[in-house]
Amino acid sequence: MEYSKLVELYEYLEKTPSRLKKIDAVAGMLSGADEDHVVMLARLLQGRVFPSWSEEDFGIASLLMMRIIQTSTGHPMQDVEKLFKETGDLGIVAEKLISTKKQTTLFSSPLSVRKVFENLRKLSSVTGKGSQERKFHIVAELISSAKPKEAKYIVRTVLGELRVGVADGVIRDAIAKAFLGKEEPKEAVKAVEWAWFLLPDYGEIARVAKTSGMEGLRKISLEIGKPYRVLLAEKAPSLQDALNSFENPVIEFKYDGMRAQIHKDGEKVWVYTRRLEDVTRQFPDIVEMVRDNVKARKCIIEGEAVGMDKRTGNPLPFQFLSQRIQRKYGIERMVEEIPVQVNLFDIVLLEGETLFGKPLRERRTLLQSVIREVPERFQLARGIITKDFRKAQKFYEEALRHRQEGVMVKNLDATYQPGRRVAGGWLKVKPVMENLDLVIIGAVWGTGKRAGWMSSFVLGCRDEDGNFLECGMMGTGIKEKDESGITFESLTKLLKPHIEREEGNRVILKPKIVAEVAYEEIQKSPNYSSGYALRFPRIVRLRPDRSPEDADTLERIERLYEQQKGRGDK
Ligand code: AMP
Repeated sequence: MEYSKLVELYEYLEKTPSRLKKIDAVAGMLSGADEDHVVMLARLLQGRVFPSWSEEDFGIASLLMMRIIQTSTGHPMQDVEKLFKETGDLGIVAEKLISTKKQTTLFSSPLSVRKVFENLRKLSSVTGKGSQERKFHIVAELISSAKPKEAKYIVRTVLGELRVGVADGVIRDAIAKAFLGKEEPKEAVKAVEWAWFLLPDYGEIARVAKTSGMEGLRKISLEIGKPYRVLLAEKAPSLQDALNSFENPVIEFKYDGMRAQIHKDGEKVWVYTRRLEDVTRQFPDIVEMVRDNVKARKCIIEGEAVGMDKRTGNPLPFQFLSQRIQRKYGIERMVEEIPVQVNLFDIVLLEGETLFGKPLRERRTLLQSVIREVPERFQLARGIITKDFRKAQKFYEEALRHRQEGVMVKNLDATYQPGRRVAGGWLKVKPVMENLDLVIIGAVWGTGKRAGWMSSFVLGCRDEDGNFLECGMMGTGIKEKDESGITFESLTKLLKPHIEREEGNRVILKPKIVAEVAYEEIQKSPNYSSGYALRFPRIVRLRPDRSPEDADTLERIERLYEQQKGRGDK
């Protein structure tokens, strides 16, 4: 199949906002393809060549891509840079420059989907010395024989910026439509979704749907070593509400760390995050604890890994652990510097049997029976079984005193539903942080589809002398397109008249515009001039009724930080 056919579909998807039309178009392409192509297309439509949980990454940054475009099109680097600045999209740069190519390729046959797919796969396997050069050639080979539009999408795919709007839901429905047309549509979609929770790879799922239909999909089961989508939590309005939700609740500490799904098969252990990243290499200490303290030969257990202060033994906020998650080198030192504690709360597979259908009560008993607890290192999550509000309240306060986020309230009679926030599932209860009124004092120009707009915003609080100090970066709560509410476009328009100066892609703004901002937590941070950073700040609304002088002060942030920390001193 020619790559240009896929490119036509990309183009159509990019300019078609209707979800139903997208589904039809994707289904149309998938249903006409053979088994091999179905796998390639389903992945390429989402900008990948490997399953979504695979660690592989193309490893090409914008700078290298600019060199590739320059060489493959024969244009000077200044042209590449200038166009990039104007458009913020190297895909468009490649498209434009190829249409005015300085060197012509003598002979080139049309690019096939297979050729693109295979070259991209090769990219991820190239490592070590000279890898940048080899990567250069693999991509340049494609770009040199690509037509302008083809180059646009190859470049975007390689940079991980395909953005044609084939979200997981669209490809799911398209697979159902293409291959399970005879089934009841809702059931068909459910079967594809179920398969995806257990095998997060639409390429393989599309192949199974094509070759063995519903029956094949339903047979897909949890496999040790391959990650699945975990059960998610919902927020409860209050502890009382959460308690009332279940006849038989268990209340557990909600630890502030990393969700870990831990797979064990004999001596082999894998650790995956909730986003299905394989972090086994980053956590040799967890691997060892599992080998030593899990009695089952084969199992999959879940828990929360928390970073610990090695001097005091107290839990550290998540930001410390996150350094370990991202770490590729010097891992041994990190193991020493930031030891982890694993708090286990579920088991979903034991010696070949999947336990999703068993109630939590039974799963907890099984979990207890397979692990050997090592206090403060590898243990069951702390929990109490009670429906008594006073006892629950005391336990909640204890969790906060232990510097954890709050509590999880779970239904002992509930089964495990992978990949979902389900009604009647887990309920989280944590303190609500008060919103802050902050001034937008800076911004960064966006790239890709946000080119031309400011896309993330520097928040500022006031100090005693009336200066504004940075306390976080915000890009959430803002809409892409105008529905109703605040969009990137409207914010940019509002802020543009207040630009003081620009440094590269950063904009320094006069402190004029006040926004009400919600956030999860306040952290200490050397990266911002206030010394504090808001975690996950999101805009609630603009406050045209407030002037910058009314904005919240550093002192208030300090106070809130202390209060939150003083959720208790141990
Ligand atoms: P949230 O990320 O706020 O939606 O909360 C859900 C997350 O809390 C889970 O994905 C876990 O990473 C984490 N968590 C901490 N303690 C527990 C616990 N006892 N049970 C389940 N999840 C927990």
